[in-house]
Amino acid sequence: MSEQMQNLPIAKPWIGEPEAEAAKRAIMSGWVTQGPEVAEFEQEFAAYVGANYACAVSNCTTALHLALLAVGVQPHDEVITVSHSYIATANSIRYCGAIPVFIDIEPQTYNINPVLIEDGISDSLRDSSASRTRAILVVHQMGMPCDLKAILDIAHRYNLPVIEDAACAIGSEILWDGKWEKIGKPHGDIACFSFHPRKVITTGDGGMIITNNSEWDQKFRLWRQHGMSIPDTVRHGAKQVIFESYPILGYNYRMTDIQAAVGREQLKRLPEIVERRRYLAERYYHKLADIPGLKLPTEPAWAKSNWQSYCVRLPDSCNQRQVMQVMLDAGVATRRGIMCAHPEPAYQMENGLYGGDRLTESEQAQDQSIILPLFHQMSEQEQDRVVEILKRVCLV
Ligand SMILES: *Cc1c(COP(=O)(O)O)cnc(C)c1O
Repeated sequence: MSEQMQNLPIAKPWIGEPEAEAAKRAIMSGWVTQGPEVAEFEQEFAAYVGANYACAVSNCTTALHLALLAVGVQPHDEVITVSHSYIATANSIRYCGAIPVFIDIEPQTYNINPVLIEDGISDSLRDSSASRTRAILVVHQMGMPCDLKAILDIAHRYNLPVIEDAACAIGSEILWDGKWEKIGKPHGDIACFSFHPRKVITTGDGGMIITNNSEWDQKFRLWRQHGMSIPDTVRHGAKQVIFESYPILGYNYRMTDIQAAVGREQLKRLPEIVERRRYLAERYYHKLADIPGLKLPTEPAWAKSNWQSYCVRLPDSCNQRQVMQVMLDAGVATRRGIMCAHPEPAYQMENGLYGGDRLTESEQAQDQSIILPLFHQMSEQEQDRVVEILKRVCLV
Protein backbone atom coordinates (compact mmCIF):
# COMPACT_ATOMS: atom_id res chain seq x y z
CA MET A 1 0.00 0.00 0.00
CA SER A 2 1.44 3.37 -0.96
CA GLU A 3 1.80 5.99 1.74
CA GLN A 4 -0.91 8.38 0.65
CA MET A 5 -3.39 5.47 0.53
CA GLN A 6 -5.23 6.05 3.77
CA ASN A 7 -7.45 3.31 5.06
CA LEU A 8 -10.99 4.01 4.02
CA PRO A 9 -13.49 3.56 6.88
CA ILE A 10 -16.97 2.12 6.43
CA ALA A 11 -18.57 5.27 7.89
CA LYS A 12 -17.58 8.53 9.49
CA PRO A 13 -19.85 11.07 11.17
CA TRP A 14 -19.85 14.57 9.66
CA ILE A 15 -19.36 16.52 12.84
CA GLY A 16 -17.07 19.36 13.93
CA GLU A 17 -16.77 22.87 15.31
CA PRO A 18 -20.49 23.79 15.37
CA GLU A 19 -21.28 20.64 17.38
CA ALA A 20 -18.32 21.23 19.70
CA GLU A 21 -19.51 24.82 20.26
CA ALA A 22 -23.04 23.58 20.94
CA ALA A 23 -21.80 21.03 23.47
CA LYS A 24 -19.79 23.81 25.11
CA ARG A 25 -22.89 26.02 25.25
CA ALA A 26 -24.76 23.28 27.12
CA ILE A 27 -21.87 22.64 29.48
CA MET A 28 -21.28 26.32 30.24
CA SER A 29 -24.99 26.83 30.94
CA GLY A 30 -24.64 24.61 33.97
CA TRP A 31 -27.64 22.49 32.95
CA VAL A 32 -26.23 19.33 31.39
CA THR A 33 -28.86 16.60 31.54
CA GLN A 34 -32.35 16.63 29.99
CA GLY A 35 -33.44 20.27 29.92
CA PRO A 36 -33.99 23.18 27.52
CA GLU A 37 -31.73 21.85 24.73
CA VAL A 38 -33.66 18.55 24.71
CA ALA A 39 -36.95 20.45 24.48
CA GLU A 40 -35.67 22.51 21.51
CA PHE A 41 -34.24 19.46 19.77
CA GLU A 42 -37.59 17.66 20.12
CA GLN A 43 -39.48 20.57 18.56
CA GLU A 44 -37.06 20.91 15.69
CA PHE A 45 -37.07 17.18 15.06
CA ALA A 46 -40.87 16.95 15.10
CA ALA A 47 -41.03 19.82 12.62
CA TYR A 48 -38.48 18.12 10.36
CA VAL A 49 -40.39 14.83 10.07
CA GLY A 50 -43.79 16.54 10.17
CA ALA A 51 -45.09 14.96 13.38
CA ASN A 52 -46.99 16.34 16.37
CA TYR A 53 -44.73 14.95 19.08
CA ALA A 54 -41.10 13.96 19.44
CA CYS A 55 -39.69 12.64 22.70
CA ALA A 56 -35.90 12.36 23.03
CA VAL A 57 -34.46 9.32 24.81
CA SER A 58 -31.10 7.69 25.45
CA ASN A 59 -31.00 5.61 22.25
CA CYS A 60 -33.22 3.88 19.71
CA THR A 61 -33.32 0.62 21.66
CA THR A 62 -34.92 2.32 24.65
CA ALA A 63 -37.18 4.20 22.22
CA LEU A 64 -38.40 0.88 20.81
CA HIS A 65 -38.92 -0.52 24.29
CA LEU A 66 -41.17 2.40 25.28
CA ALA A 67 -43.01 2.31 21.95
CA LEU A 68 -43.88 -1.35 22.48
CA LEU A 69 -45.03 -0.65 26.05
CA ALA A 70 -47.20 2.24 24.83
CA VAL A 71 -49.14 0.08 22.37
CA GLY A 72 -49.75 -2.44 25.15
CA VAL A 73 -47.23 -5.22 24.50
CA GLN A 74 -47.15 -7.49 27.56
CA PRO A 75 -45.33 -10.65 28.64
CA HIS A 76 -46.14 -13.65 26.40
CA ASP A 77 -47.56 -11.45 23.63
CA GLU A 78 -46.21 -11.97 20.14
CA VAL A 79 -44.81 -9.17 18.02
CA ILE A 80 -44.35 -9.58 14.28
CA THR A 81 -40.94 -8.37 13.13
CA VAL A 82 -37.80 -9.32 11.18
CA SER A 83 -34.78 -11.32 12.28
CA HIS A 84 -32.76 -9.57 9.58
CA SER A 85 -32.09 -6.35 11.52
CA TYR A 86 -29.74 -5.04 14.10
CA ILE A 87 -30.35 -7.30 17.10
CA ALA A 88 -31.76 -4.39 19.14
CA THR A 89 -35.01 -4.62 17.16
CA ALA A 90 -35.79 -8.12 18.45
CA ASN A 91 -34.24 -7.45 21.85
CA SER A 92 -36.65 -4.58 22.51
CA ILE A 93 -39.54 -7.02 22.13
CA ARG A 94 -37.99 -9.39 24.63
CA TYR A 95 -37.51 -6.53 27.14
CA CYS A 96 -41.32 -6.52 27.32
CA GLY A 97 -41.31 -10.26 28.03
CA ALA A 98 -42.87 -10.69 24.61
CA ILE A 99 -41.93 -13.04 21.77
CA PRO A 100 -40.59 -11.85 18.41
CA VAL A 101 -42.18 -13.69 15.48
CA PHE A 102 -39.76 -13.40 12.60
CA ILE A 103 -40.94 -12.80 9.05
CA ASP A 104 -38.62 -13.21 6.06
CA ILE A 105 -37.45 -10.27 3.94
CA GLU A 106 -37.66 -9.24 0.30
CA PRO A 107 -34.21 -9.79 -1.19
CA GLN A 108 -34.19 -6.53 -3.20
CA THR A 109 -34.96 -4.11 -0.36
CA TYR A 110 -33.81 -6.16 2.67
CA ASN A 111 -37.15 -5.20 4.23
CA ILE A 112 -40.00 -7.31 5.64
CA ASN A 113 -41.99 -9.12 2.96
CA PRO A 114 -45.57 -7.92 3.50
CA VAL A 115 -46.98 -10.99 1.74
CA LEU A 116 -45.66 -13.20 4.57
CA ILE A 117 -46.95 -11.13 7.49
CA GLU A 118 -50.39 -12.68 7.62
CA ASP A 119 -48.86 -16.14 8.11
CA GLY A 120 -47.19 -14.88 11.25
CA ILE A 121 -50.45 -13.51 12.56
CA SER A 122 -52.66 -16.52 11.84
CA ASP A 123 -50.03 -18.89 13.27
CA SER A 124 -50.22 -17.12 16.56
CA LEU A 125 -54.00 -16.96 16.54
CA ARG A 126 -54.17 -20.71 15.98
CA ASP A 127 -51.73 -21.25 18.82
CA SER A 128 -53.49 -22.82 21.80
CA SER A 129 -51.25 -21.05 24.31
CA ALA A 130 -52.18 -17.71 25.82
CA SER A 131 -49.84 -15.82 23.52
CA ARG A 132 -51.19 -13.71 20.71
CA THR A 133 -50.08 -11.13 18.20
CA ARG A 134 -50.13 -7.69 19.76
CA ALA A 135 -48.17 -5.46 17.39
CA ILE A 136 -46.12 -5.24 14.22
CA LEU A 137 -42.60 -3.81 14.48
CA VAL A 138 -41.21 -3.05 11.03
CA VAL A 139 -37.77 -1.75 10.07
CA HIS A 140 -36.72 0.73 7.40
CA GLN A 141 -33.55 -1.26 6.92
CA MET A 142 -30.39 0.68 6.15
CA GLY A 143 -32.59 3.70 5.46
CA MET A 144 -34.72 2.07 2.76
CA PRO A 145 -38.42 2.63 3.48
CA CYS A 146 -40.34 -0.61 3.90
CA ASP A 147 -43.66 -1.14 2.13
CA LEU A 148 -45.76 0.72 4.70
CA LYS A 149 -48.88 0.90 2.53
CA ALA A 150 -49.11 -2.89 2.29
CA ILE A 151 -48.12 -3.37 5.94
CA LEU A 152 -50.69 -0.89 7.27
CA ASP A 153 -53.34 -2.52 5.14
CA ILE A 154 -52.81 -5.83 6.94
CA ALA A 155 -52.39 -4.15 10.33
CA HIS A 156 -55.73 -2.34 9.98
CA ARG A 157 -57.48 -5.56 9.02
CA TYR A 158 -56.29 -7.22 12.22
CA ASN A 159 -56.47 -4.06 14.29
CA LEU A 160 -52.76 -4.23 15.15
CA PRO A 161 -50.60 -1.18 15.95
CA VAL A 162 -47.53 -0.61 13.75
CA ILE A 163 -44.24 0.61 15.16
CA GLU A 164 -41.55 1.76 12.73
CA ASP A 165 -37.93 1.05 13.62
CA ALA A 166 -36.58 4.05 11.74
CA ALA A 167 -33.18 3.87 13.47
CA CYS A 168 -31.39 4.31 10.14
CA ALA A 169 -34.04 6.22 8.21
CA ILE A 170 -33.82 9.88 9.16
CA GLY A 171 -34.17 11.89 5.94
CA SER A 172 -35.62 8.99 3.96
CA GLU A 173 -38.92 9.63 2.20
CA ILE A 174 -41.98 7.75 1.10
CA LEU A 175 -44.58 8.66 -1.52
CA TRP A 176 -47.84 9.04 0.38
CA ASP A 177 -51.07 9.95 -1.39
CA GLY A 178 -49.09 11.57 -4.19
CA LYS A 179 -46.73 13.56 -1.91
CA TRP A 180 -43.22 12.79 -0.71
CA GLU A 181 -43.25 12.61 3.08
CA LYS A 182 -40.48 12.06 5.59
CA ILE A 183 -40.18 8.68 7.25
CA GLY A 184 -41.25 9.25 10.85
CA LYS A 185 -44.29 11.44 10.17
CA PRO A 186 -45.22 8.73 11.46
CA HIS A 187 -47.19 6.66 8.98
CA GLY A 188 -47.59 3.85 11.47
CA ASP A 189 -48.45 4.59 15.10
CA ILE A 190 -44.99 5.31 16.45
CA ALA A 191 -41.57 5.74 14.81
CA CYS A 192 -38.21 5.42 16.58
CA PHE A 193 -34.90 6.96 15.47
CA SER A 194 -31.26 6.46 16.45
CA PHE A 195 -28.41 8.95 16.71
CA HIS A 196 -25.66 6.37 17.05
CA PRO A 197 -22.53 7.39 15.07
CA ARG A 198 -23.21 4.69 12.44
CA LYS A 199 -26.47 6.41 11.54
CA VAL A 200 -26.86 9.46 9.32
CA ILE A 201 -26.70 12.07 12.09
CA THR A 202 -25.34 11.51 15.58
CA THR A 203 -25.42 12.73 19.16
CA GLY A 204 -22.88 10.12 20.27
CA ASP A 205 -25.79 8.00 21.42
CA GLY A 206 -29.40 9.05 21.39
CA GLY A 207 -32.89 8.26 20.21
CA MET A 208 -36.22 9.90 19.36
CA ILE A 209 -39.79 8.60 19.67
CA ILE A 210 -42.29 10.10 17.25
CA THR A 211 -46.07 9.88 17.49
CA ASN A 212 -49.19 11.92 16.85
CA ASN A 213 -50.87 10.42 19.94
CA SER A 214 -50.59 12.90 22.85
CA GLU A 215 -51.40 10.28 25.48
CA TRP A 216 -48.53 8.10 24.37
CA ASP A 217 -46.23 11.10 24.22
CA GLN A 218 -47.13 11.94 27.82
CA LYS A 219 -46.33 8.35 28.82
CA PHE A 220 -42.96 8.46 27.08
CA ARG A 221 -42.10 11.57 29.08
CA LEU A 222 -42.99 9.89 32.36
CA TRP A 223 -41.28 6.61 31.53
CA ARG A 224 -38.01 8.12 30.41
CA GLN A 225 -37.53 9.91 33.73
CA HIS A 226 -38.21 7.26 36.38
CA GLY A 227 -41.99 7.80 36.20
CA MET A 228 -41.48 11.10 37.99
CA SER A 229 -44.65 13.22 38.04
CA ILE A 230 -42.85 16.57 37.90
CA PRO A 231 -39.71 16.98 35.78
CA ASP A 232 -36.71 18.42 37.62
CA THR A 233 -36.66 21.38 35.20
CA VAL A 234 -40.03 22.44 36.63
CA ARG A 235 -38.93 22.03 40.26
CA HIS A 236 -35.74 23.92 39.48
CA GLY A 237 -37.62 26.98 38.21
CA ALA A 238 -40.40 26.90 40.81
CA LYS A 239 -40.91 29.66 43.36
CA GLN A 240 -42.64 27.25 45.71
CA VAL A 241 -41.50 23.94 47.10
CA ILE A 242 -42.86 21.11 44.98
CA PHE A 243 -42.81 17.43 45.93
CA GLU A 244 -42.71 14.97 43.06
CA SER A 245 -44.44 11.58 43.04
CA TYR A 246 -43.97 8.37 41.09
CA PRO A 247 -47.34 7.19 39.77
CA ILE A 248 -45.89 4.49 37.50
CA LEU A 249 -42.78 2.33 37.20
CA GLY A 250 -40.35 4.28 35.04
CA TYR A 251 -36.86 4.02 33.62
CA ASN A 252 -33.85 6.22 33.21
CA TYR A 253 -33.92 6.64 29.42
CA ARG A 254 -33.03 10.33 29.27
CA MET A 255 -31.02 12.15 26.63
CA THR A 256 -28.64 14.78 28.04
CA ASP A 257 -28.69 18.46 27.06
CA ILE A 258 -25.11 18.06 25.80
CA GLN A 259 -26.29 15.42 23.32
CA ALA A 260 -29.36 17.43 22.31
CA ALA A 261 -27.26 20.54 21.65
CA VAL A 262 -25.08 18.45 19.32
CA GLY A 263 -28.18 16.95 17.71
CA ARG A 264 -29.59 20.39 16.87
CA GLU A 265 -26.45 21.21 14.91
CA GLN A 266 -26.53 17.82 13.20
CA LEU A 267 -30.14 18.41 12.17
CA LYS A 268 -29.03 21.58 10.32
CA ARG A 269 -26.57 19.50 8.31
CA LEU A 270 -29.07 16.75 7.54
CA PRO A 271 -30.45 17.96 4.17
CA GLU A 272 -26.91 18.35 2.83
CA ILE A 273 -25.91 14.94 4.20
CA VAL A 274 -28.88 13.20 2.59
CA GLU A 275 -28.24 14.92 -0.73
CA ARG A 276 -24.61 13.86 -0.74
CA ARG A 277 -25.41 10.27 0.26
CA ARG A 278 -27.99 10.00 -2.49
CA TYR A 279 -25.47 11.33 -4.99
CA LEU A 280 -22.80 8.84 -3.91
CA ALA A 281 -25.28 5.94 -3.91
CA GLU A 282 -26.33 6.73 -7.46
CA ARG A 283 -22.70 6.97 -8.44
CA TYR A 284 -22.05 3.53 -6.94
CA TYR A 285 -24.99 2.21 -8.92
CA HIS A 286 -23.60 3.40 -12.25
CA LYS A 287 -20.03 2.36 -11.53
CA LEU A 288 -20.88 -1.11 -10.25
CA ALA A 289 -23.65 -1.97 -12.70
CA ASP A 290 -21.41 -3.91 -15.06
CA ILE A 291 -20.04 -6.44 -12.53
CA PRO A 292 -21.64 -9.75 -13.53
CA GLY A 293 -23.70 -11.34 -10.77
CA LEU A 294 -23.36 -8.40 -8.38
CA LYS A 295 -26.81 -7.31 -7.21
CA LEU A 296 -27.22 -3.65 -6.36
CA PRO A 297 -29.88 -2.11 -4.13
CA THR A 298 -32.62 -0.16 -5.89
CA GLU A 299 -35.40 2.04 -4.59
CA PRO A 300 -39.02 1.10 -5.20
CA ALA A 301 -40.77 3.90 -7.16
CA TRP A 302 -42.43 5.09 -3.92
CA ALA A 303 -39.25 5.26 -1.81
CA LYS A 304 -36.25 7.57 -1.41
CA SER A 305 -33.52 6.13 0.78
CA ASN A 306 -31.04 8.20 2.78
CA TRP A 307 -28.60 5.36 1.99
CA GLN A 308 -27.52 4.95 5.60
CA SER A 309 -25.73 1.86 4.29
CA TYR A 310 -24.93 0.79 0.75
CA CYS A 311 -25.31 -2.98 0.76
CA VAL A 312 -24.50 -5.12 -2.30
CA ARG A 313 -25.19 -8.82 -2.89
CA LEU A 314 -22.04 -10.60 -4.04
CA PRO A 315 -21.99 -12.92 -7.05
CA ASP A 316 -22.61 -16.56 -6.07
CA SER A 317 -19.00 -17.44 -6.87
CA CYS A 318 -17.66 -14.98 -4.26
CA ASN A 319 -16.92 -15.83 -0.67
CA GLN A 320 -18.07 -12.99 1.56
CA ARG A 321 -15.27 -13.24 4.10
CA GLN A 322 -12.60 -13.53 1.40
CA VAL A 323 -13.90 -10.51 -0.47
CA MET A 324 -13.96 -8.49 2.73
CA GLN A 325 -10.40 -9.58 3.60
CA VAL A 326 -9.02 -8.71 0.17
CA MET A 327 -10.68 -5.31 0.39
CA LEU A 328 -9.34 -4.76 3.90
CA ASP A 329 -5.84 -5.71 2.71
CA ALA A 330 -6.27 -3.05 0.04
CA GLY A 331 -7.20 -0.50 2.73
CA VAL A 332 -10.98 -0.51 2.31
CA ALA A 333 -13.16 -1.37 5.30
CA THR A 334 -16.42 -3.21 4.62
CA ARG A 335 -18.99 -4.90 6.85
CA ARG A 336 -20.98 -7.99 6.20
CA GLY A 337 -24.66 -7.49 5.47
CA ILE A 338 -27.17 -7.13 8.30
CA MET A 339 -26.90 -10.05 10.72
CA CYS A 340 -29.96 -12.10 11.58
CA ALA A 341 -30.95 -12.35 15.24
CA HIS A 342 -32.31 -15.90 15.16
CA PRO A 343 -28.99 -17.83 14.76
CA GLU A 344 -27.33 -15.90 17.60
CA PRO A 345 -26.77 -17.72 20.90
CA ALA A 346 -29.04 -15.25 22.68
CA TYR A 347 -31.87 -16.55 20.48
CA GLN A 348 -30.96 -20.24 20.32
CA MET A 349 -32.95 -21.58 23.24
CA GLU A 350 -36.35 -20.83 21.84
CA ASN A 351 -35.39 -20.94 18.22
CA GLY A 352 -38.53 -22.82 17.21
CA LEU A 353 -40.72 -20.09 18.58
CA TYR A 354 -39.03 -17.50 16.45
CA GLY A 355 -39.72 -19.17 13.14
CA GLY A 356 -36.02 -19.54 12.26
CA ASP A 357 -36.71 -22.31 9.73
CA ARG A 358 -38.50 -20.00 7.30
CA LEU A 359 -35.95 -17.25 7.00
CA THR A 360 -33.97 -18.29 3.93
CA GLU A 361 -33.90 -14.85 2.30
CA SER A 362 -32.78 -13.28 5.57
CA GLU A 363 -29.98 -15.83 5.97
CA GLN A 364 -28.85 -15.48 2.37
CA ALA A 365 -28.75 -11.70 2.69
CA GLN A 366 -26.60 -12.06 5.81
CA ASP A 367 -24.18 -14.48 4.16
CA GLN A 368 -23.95 -13.06 0.64
CA SER A 369 -23.97 -9.30 1.03
CA ILE A 370 -21.45 -6.71 2.13
CA ILE A 371 -21.74 -3.05 3.05
CA LEU A 372 -19.44 -0.63 1.20
CA PRO A 373 -17.99 2.62 2.59
CA LEU A 374 -20.35 5.56 2.18
CA PHE A 375 -20.11 8.79 4.15
CA HIS A 376 -20.55 12.50 3.61
CA GLN A 377 -16.88 13.45 3.31
CA MET A 378 -16.02 10.54 1.01
CA SER A 379 -14.41 11.83 -2.18
CA GLU A 380 -15.17 10.56 -5.65
CA GLN A 381 -11.60 9.25 -5.93
CA GLU A 382 -12.10 7.30 -2.73
CA GLN A 383 -15.30 5.87 -4.10
CA ASP A 384 -13.56 4.96 -7.34
CA ARG A 385 -10.99 3.06 -5.30
CA VAL A 386 -13.72 0.98 -3.67
CA VAL A 387 -15.24 0.28 -7.07
CA GLU A 388 -11.93 -0.69 -8.62
CA ILE A 389 -11.01 -3.10 -5.82
CA LEU A 390 -14.46 -4.69 -5.71
CA LYS A 391 -14.35 -5.14 -9.49
CA ARG A 392 -10.99 -6.81 -9.26
CA VAL A 393 -12.18 -9.19 -6.52
CA CYS A 394 -15.45 -10.10 -8.20
CA LEU A 395 -14.01 -10.69 -11.64
CA VAL A 396 -11.36 -13.26 -10.60
C1 LIG B 1 -28.84 0.98 15.18
C2 LIG B 1 -30.13 0.32 15.18
C3 LIG B 1 -30.87 0.15 16.35
C4 LIG B 1 -30.34 0.53 17.71
O1 LIG B 1 -30.11 1.89 17.83
P1 LIG B 1 -29.34 2.44 19.14
O2 LIG B 1 -29.57 3.90 19.08
O3 LIG B 1 -27.91 2.07 19.00
O4 LIG B 1 -29.99 1.80 20.31
C5 LIG B 1 -32.12 -0.43 16.26
N1 LIG B 1 -32.61 -0.86 15.09
C6 LIG B 1 -31.92 -0.73 13.93
C7 LIG B 1 -32.54 -1.19 12.66
C8 LIG B 1 -30.65 -0.16 13.96
O5 LIG B 1 -29.96 -0.06 12.80
